[in-house]
Amino acid sequence: MEDLSGRKFNRLKALNPTPERKSRKVVWECLCDCGETTYVASDKLKNGSIKSCGCQRRDAGKTLQKTLHSEMNVDGVIIPYLKRKARKDNKTGVKGVSLIKTRSGAERYRSTITVKGKLHYLGTYETLAQAISARKAGEKKYHDPYITKLEEKEND
Ligand SMILES: [Zn+2]
Repeated sequence: MEDLSGRKFNRLKALNPTPERKSRKVVWECLCDCGETTYVASDKLKNGSIKSCGCQRRDAGKTLQKTLHSEMNVDGVIIPYLKRKARKDNKTGVKGVSLIKTRSGAERYRSTITVKGKLHYLGTYETLAQAISARKAGEKKYHDPYITKLEEKEND
């Protein structure tokens, strides 16, 4: 039996051989860099087919998530949120335009836009078309700089 004790294989350090065998290979008790103990057959350790207790794969998943998140994130604005459709409870069916009633009972269309969690009022209008164009202008003003930045980032 080859003595692997104390030897490092990727994230795993072989500690002690166990009586267990896998395909006639000695199963070693290993200490992973993350602090977990795991059991790996000597051949798997040496050929690198097992590199960690499993945390490496978990880390890789986390890194991917992080990357996705950061690519979508421009100065704290999550771009997909900007492109989200109108909520179902929105009576006008247009994102950022809601139907309101004035104190005199008249119906008006109010345009709003949210940037970094802050609501900006874009005005109240008699017609839906006016409110939509105000909203479009608001998107240009408040959202486009972020979307442009994201596109620049993606083209890097
Ligand atoms: Zn680990």
